Amino acid sequence: MSRMKLAGALAMATAAVAVAAQAQTPPAPAAAPPPYATTKVEGTDNVYIFRFGGHQSMFIVTPEGVIATDPIGERRPAAKAYIEEIRKITQAPIKYVIYSHSHFDHVAGGQPFKNLGAVFVAHRNAQKRIAALKPADVVVPDEVVDGQKVITLGGTTLELDYVGLNHSDSTLVMRLPKEKILFTVDWIPVKGIQFRGMADTYVPDIEEALKKVIAMDWDKLIPGHPGPGGVQTGTKDDARNQLAYLQDLSAAVKKAVDEGKSYADAQKEITLPKYESWPNYKPFLQMNIERYYDFWNRGI
Ligand SMILES: [Zn+2]
Repeated sequence: MSRMKLAGALAMATAAVAVAAQAQTPPAPAAAPPPYATTKVEGTDNVYIFRFGGHQSMFIVTPEGVIATDPIGERRPAAKAYIEEIRKITQAPIKYVIYSHSHFDHVAGGQPFKNLGAVFVAHRNAQKRIAALKPADVVVPDEVVDGQKVITLGGTTLELDYVGLNHSDSTLVMRLPKEKILFTVDWIPVKGIQFRGMADTYVPDIEEALKKVIAMDWDKLIPGHPGPGGVQTGTKDDARNQLAYLQDLSAAVKKAVDEGKSYADAQKEITLPKYESWPNYKPFLQMNIERYYDFWNRGI
C-alpha cells in the first residue's frame, strides 16, 4: 500500500471509530462547577457570596467600602480570586476582613487583603488561638469582639454576635439586621449532620447556642459550605432542624449509655431515620454518636 493510500485508509478507519464512539457516547455528565464563583444574594443589592471549591464566604459592598469575611485560602490562591471578584463589582476600598471562627480552612490566606489595608476582626478567642498556634498564612486579627460589635459602613449595619460555645469557642454570628441575613460557619449546615467527630465542638453548649440563634431576627442563612446540590443559602428551618437533630442524637446516645451499651453497639444500633436523607448522614453519624457517647459516658 502506498503511503498516500495508507494515510487515506487510516483516516477512514479513524473517522469510522470516531462515528462509532460518538454513537456509543452517553450524554455528557453535568459540567463540574467552576473552581470559584460569586453570587449576589437574592433579595439584596449589595450582599454577595464568594465560593472557592467547597468553602464560601459573605461580602458586603457599600459606597464607602467593602466588608469581607473569611479568606478561605488554606493552601490555595482563593484570596487573589476573592479580591479580583470584588474588583469586578467595586473599586471601593476593602475595609474589613471578619473571621467566622478560628479554623484555618476558613481563615487562612488573608495576606493579600492585609496588603490592601483591611482591618482584621475576630472573636477574642480566635485571636488567642491564632497567636498561639501561629498557623502558616493566617493573618492575626487586629481587633477583637467579646460579646458584640456593630460595624456601620456606607449605610450598612453588620452585627457581630457571640452566642457562646458551639462549633468552636470563637464562632461569630454575623447578622445584617436590615436584610435579615445571617452568616455563621460550620455548625448550622443546610441539610447536613455535624462534620466527622465534631472536633472542637462543645457539647451540650452547641444546643443552647442554636436556641439563641433561632431566637434572633433573621430569615436567610449563609453557611460556610454549600449544601446538597450546591445550594448556597438556607433558612431558619435549617437551624431548627439542626437543633432537633442534636437533641434526638443526644437522647438516643444517652439511652444507649444508660443501658450499658458499648461504643460499638451504640454506633451499630442507633439510627435516626428522620435525617438519613441528608447526604453526610451515612459517613458521619457514627462519629457524631461517638462524640455524644463521650459526653454522656464520661462528661467530656
Ligand atoms: Zn470550623
